[in-house]
Amino acid sequence: MALIFDRIAIIGIGLIGASIARAAREHGAANTICLYDANPAVRQRAHELGLGEVSDSAEEAVKNAELVVLAVPVGAMADAAASCASGLKIGAIVTDVGSVKQAVVEAAAAHLGPNVYFIPGHPIAGTEHSGPDAGFATLFHNRWHILTPLANQTEAYAAAVDQLDEFWRALGANVERMDAERHDVVLAVTSHLPHLIAFNIVAMAEDLENVTESEVVKYSASGFRDFTRIAASDPTMWRDVFLNNREPVLEVLARFSEDLAALQRAIRWGEGETLYALFDRARRMRREVIEAGQETPAPNWGRDEQS
Ligand code: NAP
Repeated sequence: MALIFDRIAIIGIGLIGASIARAAREHGAANTICLYDANPAVRQRAHELGLGEVSDSAEEAVKNAELVVLAVPVGAMADAAASCASGLKIGAIVTDVGSVKQAVVEAAAAHLGPNVYFIPGHPIAGTEHSGPDAGFATLFHNRWHILTPLANQTEAYAAAVDQLDEFWRALGANVERMDAERHDVVLAVTSHLPHLIAFNIVAMAEDLENVTESEVVKYSASGFRDFTRIAASDPTMWRDVFLNNREPVLEVLARFSEDLAALQRAIRWGEGETLYALFDRARRMRREVIEAGQETPAPNWGRDEQS
């Protein structure tokens, strides 16, 4: 148990916002947790779930909060920042959890003014579920949390970054710092492109006329099933990610398309060695992910143990 902030406010009570509320309570990282969501049904549900003190406005929720977390879709960050700006305490830390960083900095910073410390961030943790019921306290355990502090700041800003770093560690995360531009390129490779491929492959399978949909579902264990899990992620969130991380995504997508064309050629010309070498490299990458503690080595991805 490590108390980091007396009072925190969370704007947006979806999977991530509700998980922060639960984790902060469970780990004793905050005494009081105030919440606001633009959707009245979500506010009602957060109240029923006992996630914290639910307010009817963002301005009210952030009053006297030492930490404010914007946990709304990337495209709503500017609105969320604007709606709480007038209620912010002088010296409050404002952070976000958006999956894209440069666009959020541009969208939110303008509304926040010089009296608060704005420190963008992104938890590399999530599931394909949305809404307050999807949140759980252990979501951030042993996951990376990337902070992208603004450049050329004061000593007081650096101290605020350290305090935010401590908060995420108290929630069980490992914290890394990098600049926003680098974050957006790294995540385009590790998260955004894989999601795009999953969305595309699942939609394509649905469109294929020579395989009936029931066969696709019936035999899905042979690889397709894992794409369907990724492709089940929230459409609003992912629309906003691609609209707001356009350049890095287009760059890695171009590289991906070139490499795919090379694979196509290897298959066409029966170049088994090329195929083997690439598959072998990919397999080694999987081992590295497991060794880094970011995945379970259990058969069937640990699903059998969960049921
Ligand atoms: P979510 O479950 O869809 O929840 C977002 C909530 O924010 C919704 O209840 C939404 O209401 C509300 N909202 C929208 N605009 C708002 C505003 N201006 N003010 C207050 N509330 C507002 O989303 P999530 O999965 O928690 O994602 C939240 C953020 O975390 C996103 O920026 C996402 O990129 C990032 N993130 C997500 C994951 C993940 O795996 N899901 C992982 C890491 C980071 P409506 O539904 O009525 O619009």
